[in-house]
Amino acid sequence: MYEAAQFIDGRWSAGTSGRVLTVTDPRDDTPVTRMPVSGADEVAAAVRAARGAAPAWARTSPSARAGALHAAATAIEAAAGELAGIMAAEMGKPVADAQDSIMAGVGTLRQYAELGPTHRGRTLAGDDAAIDLMAFRPRGVVAVITPWNDPVAVACGLLGAALVTGNTVVHKPSERTPATGWRLAGLVAPHVPPGVLNVVHGDGPVGAALAASPVDVVAHVGSTPAGRSIAAACAGTGAKALLENGGSDPLIVDAGVDPQWAAGQAALGAFANSGQICVAVERIYVHRDVAEAFTDALTAEAAAWGERIGPLVDRRLRDTVHAQVSAAVRAGATALHGGQIPAGAGAWYPPTVLTGCADDMAVMREETFGPVAATAVVESFEEALTRASDSPYGLAATVLTASMSHAQRAWRELPAGTVKINAVFGGAPGGSAHPRRASGQGFGYGPELLDEMTAVTAAHLEAPPTGW
Ligand code: NAD
Repeated sequence: MYEAAQFIDGRWSAGTSGRVLTVTDPRDDTPVTRMPVSGADEVAAAVRAARGAAPAWARTSPSARAGALHAAATAIEAAAGELAGIMAAEMGKPVADAQDSIMAGVGTLRQYAELGPTHRGRTLAGDDAAIDLMAFRPRGVVAVITPWNDPVAVACGLLGAALVTGNTVVHKPSERTPATGWRLAGLVAPHVPPGVLNVVHGDGPVGAALAASPVDVVAHVGSTPAGRSIAAACAGTGAKALLENGGSDPLIVDAGVDPQWAAGQAALGAFANSGQICVAVERIYVHRDVAEAFTDALTAEAAAWGERIGPLVDRRLRDTVHAQVSAAVRAGATALHGGQIPAGAGAWYPPTVLTGCADDMAVMREETFGPVAATAVVESFEEALTRASDSPYGLAATVLTASMSHAQRAWRELPAGTVKINAVFGGAPGGSAHPRRASGQGFGYGPELLDEMTAVTAAHLEAPPTGW
């Protein structure tokens, strides 16, 4: 069994709050990790350590900081197999998928190692006797609060961008993947001075204590309710809140598309990682002309996906997902596939296809963090756009269409950070977007995350008067 230790000012120790949480393997319920929860004084000590290390790290040259990230990336790559095993045991992702997502994290660290030293300000056209410039400076201490559904890749993005720009960090990994966070810290920490990276462990209250601490940025990837409470805490302290939160992404299937291909895309979007992806397909608006063939093909896809997906992260999430599905069925939706909790150990849930979903059902209105494809039939592309836009969330959206004008309308009109045409996943490296509405605020990834992690100083330098 793993023991998730906290890491404060260069030293490993067990949290002394007196509370201990145990993570069980969602595949078969065996205990995996013991996590002694950090106490309030330990959260404060981690923030103090990060504050103490901040001036020297800010003075460290960007290329030396980038070198530390490259070394950390190499260490993570070398341990990817071991880390993937821990991740799979804690959150159920198949090991090969876990390894892919760890390699995505390694790539992100290397990307920030390259981008950090080239992150530039600008010089200004001022008085000839002076030098005027705008420079990106580290903000100071960044609290990084991360989720379990892609625990290494998400953490690597925030840690990489924060550290390479000269900030120090207090990281709180998810309470559902603490050993993954502990092992990741063990691979990164040897490459930075004590105090530059600190890790505390615990659940929501520990995250809340960290978010309310005297830090400069709170970067949170996670659920919308947690993001909202962090934003409120930041309003109290003056820290900047950077939020990448939940989504309820629509998929529009237009008239005239190949229903078989569209069903393959829908299944990939809804069932990959057992639906536990922030940009998973959550609600599908399918044109009446292709609806029947599409839902038939989607049902066949669901049966095939049942063989390859892992369980949900735990039974708590499974209960939430199943409650949303059951409520939809009670309110008139039909489950063409899945929709039942299987007998046996673990937190397994089948790929589920619902038809006849109404806009006010939780499966359409809320985030459903599970393998659920909720569908509704529309009469026109116009109706699909209107219903897809009517959501509290605005993370991403996909449109499958052969019409260029529909594609153009989609990316211009849908209130979402990312709009994808004819592919549920994908995007060029270097892209970044603003989540809309309850999905968050700020750039949570990409080169623009370097801007978020820094503050601009305008400097005006004049020579002293002659004769001194
Ligand atoms: P969560 O918000 O419950 O937990 C995420 C982290 O926040 C954990 O470390 C948790 O302990 C902490 N936390 C919880 N309550 C807190 C509070 N009040 N104050 C401070 N910290 C708190 O989310 P989760 O269940 O771990 O992750 C799933 C959610 O994350 C989904 O909603 C998903 O869409 C979202 N997500 C979003 C993105 C994105 O890029 N937009 C990426 C991955 C996951």
